[in-house]
Amino acid sequence: FKEVREGKAKILVPKAERIYDAPVFYNPVMAFNRDLSVLALRVLEPKEALDALSATGVRGIRYALETPVREVWMNDINPEAFNLIVENIKLNFDGALEVKEKKAILEGDKRLISTNKDANLLMDEAFRYFDFVDLDPFGSPMPFLDASLRAVKRKGFLGITATDTGVLCGAYKNACLRKYNARPLRGELCHETGLRILIGAVARYIGKYDLGFRVLFAYYKDHYFRVFLKLEDGAKKGDETVEKLGYVYFDQKTGKFEVENAFLPSRKGAYGPLWLGELKDEKFVEALYNEAQKAELAKKRKVLECLERVRGELDVPLFYELSMVAKRNKLEVRKPDLIVEALEERGFLASRTHISPTGIKTNAGLSDVVDVLRSLQ
Ligand code: SAM
Repeated sequence: FKEVREGKAKILVPKAERIYDAPVFYNPVMAFNRDLSVLALRVLEPKEALDALSATGVRGIRYALETPVREVWMNDINPEAFNLIVENIKLNFDGALEVKEKKAILEGDKRLISTNKDANLLMDEAFRYFDFVDLDPFGSPMPFLDASLRAVKRKGFLGITATDTGVLCGAYKNACLRKYNARPLRGELCHETGLRILIGAVARYIGKYDLGFRVLFAYYKDHYFRVFLKLEDGAKKGDETVEKLGYVYFDQKTGKFEVENAFLPSRKGAYGPLWLGELKDEKFVEALYNEAQKAELAKKRKVLECLERVRGELDVPLFYELSMVAKRNKLEVRKPDLIVEALEERGFLASRTHISPTGIKTNAGLSDVVDVLRSLQ
């Protein structure tokens, strides 16, 4: 093992040539994901939080050290991970740790609890117990989604990571049909449609509990998706959530896209179902940004850059990938900021997007974007 520092935590991680060969998983690239999650917990102030798939415990330990959360559960099915979580708790907190039958509890001003169970079993034993449930699995969160919707309180919060971008972005179409029950779109819009397919799947699972949600913040980065949701209680909220589902039509030849807000698609060639609602709550993102300025984070500069982009981002479905617009229309590409400015001068709303450095979001149509690009040749 070697000791690494991340945020305020000291963590023992296995020494390994490649991260997937290690007996317990630790990915330093995901420090960005954990930074943003720390900020989210500082803003949301949950009392009880569950890190259902914890590996080294780094996430839960950071939550305990860097946020006001009072009780953090860290769980992993792998016994080696469980032992390491216990070691890492001892490394970061003084005090007696009682270890009994696959459960370790550290009592103090904060309660830290580590368990060695199947995540679904643990979540079903903790029915509506947690204010915040975090799913950070290998690949798809779908095998754990339903139990997480029962382990979280009816007005609680969910944090969901999906690293199976190949599936959600259409490289493995059958896997997307099977896991997310949605038809994925390949090509330039795949990262946004992938993110929306993931949220759309949650929308379709949650309704049966007479629950709905609002998206606090959802993003794509470093080949993964991450979503923070605030649950909303009641059948009406469930209905309102389902009403934000729909489909996308995309013509690969011209690059024209269209969205249809409906439970069933009206014609052939639809991609989805997917979420057509918001990808952020402005106040929440503003609060994350304010916290990020104050906090000691592992990837502070990157986090601030990302949040700055997201703050200015127009919250409408899909975007224009300028390199593709240029190529299809045999034009030369121009800087995205120039296009945004030119569209705004013509009275449209327009912005950059965190999803692609060369993409722009706008309420203008494709022909307007092409016109603007042509005028800048
Ligand atoms: N959350 C961690 C972090 O931020 O570093 C990374 C978690 S890692 C991607 C996924 C973990 O899930 C692995 O440690 C694996 O042992 C664990 N796991 C896989 N299936 C599980 C199950 N059914 N129940 C509990 N843990 C499981």
